[in-house]
Amino acid sequence: MRIPIVAGNWKLHNTVQESIVLSKTIKEGATGIKNTEVILAPPFTALSSVFTIIKDSNLTLASQNIFYEDKGAYTGEIAPGMLKDVGCTYAIIGHSERRKYFNERDEDVNLKTKKALAAGLKPIVCVGETEEERVKDITEFVVGIQVKKALYGITSLNDIVIAYEPVWAIGTGKVATPIEAEEVHRFIRGVLSEVYGSGSSGVRILYGGSVTPENISELIDMEDIDGALVGGASLKPDTFLGIIKKVAEKK
Ligand code: PEP
Repeated sequence: MRIPIVAGNWKLHNTVQESIVLSKTIKEGATGIKNTEVILAPPFTALSSVFTIIKDSNLTLASQNIFYEDKGAYTGEIAPGMLKDVGCTYAIIGHSERRKYFNERDEDVNLKTKKALAAGLKPIVCVGETEEERVKDITEFVVGIQVKKALYGITSLNDIVIAYEPVWAIGTGKVATPIEAEEVHRFIRGVLSEVYGSGSSGVRILYGGSVTPENISELIDMEDIDGALVGGASLKPDTFLGIIKKVAEKK
């Protein structure tokens, strides 16, 4: 049984005060939700304050990024242990915006994933093809390499979550059809099973890309879709709670 996840990636949005208000509203609205993990990923500056709000609830905290060193002369970076220290359970790693704007390569994603695990954080590893790659029909090739490289050298998948996020669907309003998404989720599950055998059967694979309360039900009906990584719709309590409730109802 794979417990579904709905994770809200707030990206570069919300002051500390706004984050406190939003997390309080989501916490209240998600009271009583069972069999679904709800994760909030506010900006670094609000992690600590949001943790204070949600620590005694069924919500958990994620960072949107981490660094792969524990300490040292790395101005501007945040170490995995520091994120654990402020209450993070999860760390989003290799989001396509980090790959695009900050030149993160698969090798960085791998280092970060290993370091997150070593610090006791659960990585949410993001993969996904661009529109050009989909048009060229190389989606599986691209996603297969991303998955294998991200997990290179990792022996246990127990704490790993994968987020399949087609780049062309992120923040565009162009959601993948349930069948398109399921095909890639099934493919990823196949890649994991080739490398890890039955040790991969519990890995949650989330879909991300323009998820809304209107389109989540059909996506979550798919056998290999275990929840959603949500950007824009996680910034409004009504839409985020709408998604959470539909996932909790369905799985
Ligand atoms: C994301 O940033 O991970 C994402 C899926 O964004 P959106 O839901 O806005 O497409």
